[in-house]
Amino acid sequence: MRLDKFVCKSTELTRKEAIQCIHSGELSVNGKVTTNEAVQVHENNLVLLNSVKLKARDFRYILMHKPADTVCSNIDEVYPSLFNYLEVDKLSELHIVGRLDADTTGLILITDDGRWSFHITQPTNDCRKVYRVQLSQAIPAERSSDLVTQFKQGLQLQGELGLTRPSKLDIITPKEVLLTITEGKFHQVKRMFAAVGNRVVSLHREKIGDICLELEVGQWRYLTKDEVESFS
Ligand code: URA
Repeated sequence: MRLDKFVCKSTELTRKEAIQCIHSGELSVNGKVTTNEAVQVHENNLVLLNSVKLKARDFRYILMHKPADTVCSNIDEVYPSLFNYLEVDKLSELHIVGRLDADTTGLILITDDGRWSFHITQPTNDCRKVYRVQLSQAIPAERSSDLVTQFKQGLQLQGELGLTRPSKLDIITPKEVLLTITEGKFHQVKRMFAAVGNRVVSLHREKIGDICLELEVGQWRYLTKDEVESFS
């Protein structure tokens, strides 16, 4: 991996801070000072930062099928936390990538790699999240095409200044749709349907990026290396 990435993985430094350290000659690889942040380093290389040996931490990347009536925070007075389902060490180091509401089910990503989760949640990175939505009001056939256009052009959510980013609405049946979005405002999907006079009855996230949910409710597994890297 690149030296700047290695430094980030083995310290608390941001990418910018890591590059500054490298440029100011604080890093050496196998005994040689390097000021090139793009130089490739491997696990068996000796990397020193101001003479202190760095060791890349192994980040954890977890996929889970969130059950209904669970919350994405550590503590809640009403519902159990999603973390109760995870039997791993150092739970407090993990965080959820893009929270779901208590009543929403489906795909959840959990990690201790802040940069990775930022990449997934940052709207400008265009990482697609796909939701299966059951609606209270049937979408009339004659309104379907207008509605798809409205979602594509952006909706005005209550309390927000700008429009939502373009989203993709696939109408499966009059009361069931797939919605693909690239941002995650508070209650975003529910508010999007409220903005067009409808109401979400149930919500299930089935895909993030290229990762689909194939686990049973409440199950979890570690992501493969390819899956982790599919987001970078
Ligand atoms: N949008 C919502 O309204 N709720 C969720 O849980 C996720 C997206």
